[in-house]
Amino acid sequence: MNFLLQPKKLKSLLADDGSRAIMEKTVAFFENMGKTRLTEDFNKKAWYRGFVDFIAAERIFSKLLTPRAYAGGDPDCRWDTARNSEYSELLAFYGLGYWYCFQVTILGLGPIWMSANEAAKRRAAEFLRQGAIFAFGLSERAHGADIYATETTLTPAGEGAWKANGEKYYIGNGNEAEMVSTLGRIKDGSDDYAFFVANYRHKAYELKTNVISHQEYVASFALHDYPIGADELLSRGPAAWDAALNTVNVGKFNIGPASIGVAEHCFYEAITHAANRVLYGMRVTDMPHVRKNFMDAWLRLVGMKLYQRRATDYFRSASETDRRYLLYNPTSKMKVTLQAEEVINLLWDVIAAKGFEKDTYFSMGAVDIRGPSKLEGTVHVNVQLIRKFMQNYFFNPAELPPVPPVLDERDDVFIFRQGPAKGLGAIRFHDYAPAFAGNAHLTNVAAFGRQIALFKELLAQAGPDKQQDMDPSFSLPLGEMFSIVVYGQLILEQAGLDGLDDRRRGGGGGRRGSGALGAGLLGGRARGGRLGLGDAGAKGGGGEQRGGKDAHGGESLESKQKAYHSPALPAALSTAYAAAPRQTQRPPSTSRHAPVTNAASSDAKNTAAVAMSDGRDSLPSGIEATNFARVAGVSSPMNCASSAVSPATGLITLTRMLCGASSAAIERDVTIAAPLLPLYQVSPGRGRTPAVEAIVMKTPSRLARKCGTACRAVRNRLFTLTAKMRSNSDSATSSIGWLRCVVPALLTTTCRSP
Ligand SMILES: Cc1cc2nc3c(=O)[nH]c(=O)nc-3n(C[C@H](O)[C@H](O)[C@H](O)COP(=O)(O)OP(=O)(O)OC[C@H]3O[C@@H](n4cnc5c(N)ncnc54)[C@H](O)[C@@H]3O)c2cc1C
Repeated sequence: MNFLLQPKKLKSLLADDGSRAIMEKTVAFFENMGKTRLTEDFNKKAWYRGFVDFIAAERIFSKLLTPRAYAGGDPDCRWDTARNSEYSELLAFYGLGYWYCFQVTILGLGPIWMSANEAAKRRAAEFLRQGAIFAFGLSERAHGADIYATETTLTPAGEGAWKANGEKYYIGNGNEAEMVSTLGRIKDGSDDYAFFVANYRHKAYELKTNVISHQEYVASFALHDYPIGADELLSRGPAAWDAALNTVNVGKFNIGPASIGVAEHCFYEAITHAANRVLYGMRVTDMPHVRKNFMDAWLRLVGMKLYQRRATDYFRSASETDRRYLLYNPTSKMKVTLQAEEVINLLWDVIAAKGFEKDTYFSMGAVDIRGPSKLEGTVHVNVQLIRKFMQNYFFNPAELPPVPPVLDERDDVFIFRQGPAKGLGAIRFHDYAPAFAGNAHLTNVAAFGRQIALFKELLAQAGPDKQQDMDPSFSLPLGEMFSIVVYGQLILEQAGLDGLDDRRRGGGGGRRGSGALGAGLLGGRARGGRLGLGDAGAKGGGGEQRGGKDAHGGESLESKQKAYHSPALPAALSTAYAAAPRQTQRPPSTSRHAPVTNAASSDAKNTAAVAMSDGRDSLPSGIEATNFARVAGVSSPMNCASSAVSPATGLITLTRMLCGASSAAIERDVTIAAPLLPLYQVSPGRGRTPAVEAIVMKTPSRLARKCGTACRAVRNRLFTLTAKMRSNSDSATSSIGWLRCVVPALLTTTCRSP
């Protein structure tokens, strides 16, 4: 069983024939098209006429995006978030452009299905049946995320009619959308927001240009006295505002699966290329660092898929009283998309020059993968959103009924009546702790659990004050740290539901350790297990998971789900991976992050890896440690505070200020936080960066700046996060002194008197 999407041996979680037919027909369409045409069209930036015609002929968007109530009896129609996610992954597997056409159709339909305008809804259903695509006209050129600044207007034209004027920018499908859901403001004295629909064929609709250079059509269009009657007006006032935000909620959840699809296809191409390439008489896949890159990429992909699957359950179970999806959704958006970028980085180091070739999917994916993290709100916007939930998530858990996997054929209509988009800070969550406690036998999970406890302590004792809250250089790293906890929680929940194998195979020692699960979750080392590489061209592993059969001799849904989510590791890969020497992480010279030693047999491991804020440093003691320090290649654990630049890497360790910043340097006083860095200690390859920007910048008050003394600077420190890294260390004991601190830790040092 191949855990990754394999279109030619499609394993769908969907049980019904209608859904399977949609997936199979789509695979057939793209396979018939062939890779040559696929890449040529991409390179020529040709609008995907053939795809749009195929969608229309097969009524695919109609089936996927029409709620049952408007389906006119078509049994295949429903709005099923799990199915739409699966379809998104599949489309993006063949090209992000195709997915985008689907994505903006979803967005365009949001304000329509959310409205009380029955005529517009019936019209939308009919257009869908005829094969139309839709668009969402929110953005304007000058305003970006600031939709309060919307300039498009509706001016009264008598008898409940208006004239729309304005210009929209970045509007996907704006060239052919039969209904463009557009946001404007009513200029009748109320300044109410309003959603209305426009049609691209109307003479008052001026299609200006495609503002991007791609297959997709991302339009700039203008409305010149476009007539709007009651049939075109979808909503106004708070309802229109909520429709805008709630529609983005729906669209946002569709982005993670797209990133997954792109990363999967790139994975296949990279491993196929590497497996068939022989350098110095050996296959590239036999090189240990290449194996590590594949392993790392694969584990991240598994994590992304597990998270997305579990978040889908919460999405589909949402109700007026259970709005947890509002946290899991932006976490998916910013985390899964960024992880996919990291996967491509890892793979590109392997596929190298081949990844530029014009007839590869990789060359498309490498360009496209940067997009999803920026759509439906940037990473910043989503992190700021996520922070709103932090207080209740950590300090106010609620008893909520467990959410089972939701794979039935329900119509997810709640997402069209999500209600007011405010009140996020009041949403309650079930306790995150049991998910981690239940997996604490995994070394990395245990380490992560301790860090979460310290993070929580930090929030409790030195939680952000108003000034810090308003300072994105402080609040964004904090929010991103929080997002990792949420990400880990849902991965663990899904791993439990899937019954993932978390045992260390052949590791001995009688202790349960970081197997595929722990490693996939937290970036630790994976051992044992297998990953079937399917069509990828690489040999090894790939044992088919046998599942139960249903009454018709097919696999039962349960066994299908299990097989679908059974990330075993390839034997060949994992053996070499486990045998490979654990490397020292050498950040690229441009990195601002302190280098971290993964493992060493001496005291050096406790010193070289420590990122400190107070400028303390330690000499290695003993011959062995000193020798190790000389050859280790990391920033030497020697006492080199006199030079802030590591002799080994040229890396400037930002924290090496012995007495805190002087008045001149005070604004540059930053602290390496790196609190959850062990997440990414997967015997990493070159060019790794942690998920969290490992610094917290501390802007002292004006008073402190004026005082000009280092002591004041220290006193005015709001708090200091100190990461003490001893990655992959199984031992949790301390030997001597506080520097031999227990495990990777995030410590909080509150203000100290000078
Ligand atoms: C290919 C493509 C297709 C698109 N399709 C559509 C579409 O079909 N319909 C549509 O309406 N829009 C569409 N968009 C617009 C898209 O949703 C926005 O571009 C996106 O939300 C980011 O906005 P922006 O680029 O204007 O960034 P800006 O909003 O200008 O942001 C600038 C910077 O400020 C930061 N920032 C902004 N607000 C905050 C905040 N609250 N907190 C912290 N940081 C903040 C951002 O992170 C960023 O770093 C599309 C864009 C692209 C590129």
